[in-house]
Amino acid sequence: MKLIKNAQVFSPTPLGQKDVLIAGNKIIAIENDLSACINDIVEVIDANGQILTPGFVDSLVHITGGGGEGGYTTRTPEMHINEALIGGVTTVIGVLGTDAETRSLENLLAKAYSLEEQGLSVFCYSGSYHYPMVTITESIKRDIMFIEKFIGVGEVAIADHRSSHLTPTELARLASEARVAGMLSGKTGIVSIHVGDEIGRLSILQNVVEQSDIPITQFYPTHINRSRALLDAGFEFAAQGGFIDFTTSTNEQIIAQGEIPAAKALAEALAKGLNIKQLTMSSDGNASLPLFDRAGELIDLQVGQVRSLHQSMVDAVKEYQLPLELALSAITRSPAGILKLKNKGQIVVGLDADLNLLDSESLAITAVFAKGKQVIKEGKTLINTLFRS
Ligand code: ZN
Repeated sequence: MKLIKNAQVFSPTPLGQKDVLIAGNKIIAIENDLSACINDIVEVIDANGQILTPGFVDSLVHITGGGGEGGYTTRTPEMHINEALIGGVTTVIGVLGTDAETRSLENLLAKAYSLEEQGLSVFCYSGSYHYPMVTITESIKRDIMFIEKFIGVGEVAIADHRSSHLTPTELARLASEARVAGMLSGKTGIVSIHVGDEIGRLSILQNVVEQSDIPITQFYPTHINRSRALLDAGFEFAAQGGFIDFTTSTNEQIIAQGEIPAAKALAEALAKGLNIKQLTMSSDGNASLPLFDRAGELIDLQVGQVRSLHQSMVDAVKEYQLPLELALSAITRSPAGILKLKNKGQIVVGLDADLNLLDSESLAITAVFAKGKQVIKEGKTLINTLFRS
């Protein structure tokens, strides 16, 4: 058992100074003073002057590497567990991406199991960028219903030169399959959508929603901060009730080409009166960040970083003056809610003890607890792995 004493708790709702008691992998009490519980089997962690938050939920990470659009030597590497934990991320959604030829769902699942064994909570999507979808059981429906880790499908690419340019009918059929599987298995069954640069933007999603009974919340489009035009389309989509996700991995060249930093996009969305429950940030960790010129030629390629999720949350507070509760919600309660991860994303009695301690001034991560186990102490990892960190 662990007692985290005297932290300023953001659940992400601000709860004031509290003691939080952990037993095994669960939060079992949150009270003003739990000193009476202290005995020989309780480890006491003094968190005076620190902020306690839920562990971050990163809704899009290419845990087996995402792409490699400059040839085989540019295949992006797998995510190492410490890359997530050092950034306060205790739950990831692992996905394939552009490359479902040299990378497979079997490999994705094996990686998910290995990360889970090391302490991370991992869920996955079946499928990839492309249509028809890759699957394990030859059916999206059966993948979601019978493979525990699969909670939805994606990231399905639209409006991108690397996509399959699927038709609205094909997308509607895929969405219905994922939806039914989600309903029957009690999972989200959501369709994660990678949105590219093409001028169609979100129109295919609008088309499916208009032409069918599939609700707008069936889709979870990401990279909405890719350009001003897409951001505006995303705001409209959210105003109609849809979820939108902003990507935190970026670099100066991509910003110079017109991407809006995720923290800024989040601040703008909230200023427009959009509901925080519909707004999330994800890292797109270990994706390739390719830069193409106007002729479609690759001119640069970097790798997405999971730790950018924490940095964007800090930027939202420090640069764009968002209340900590809202900035945190976008990487905790909101994604957990959208993805129906009932034990994740909040500091509530009975939920998983995924917790981060942050320095109250800098918001730097000082300690991380994943399913009740301390994995980061004084900013350093406690996880020993066989391979490099
Ligand atoms: Zn993507």
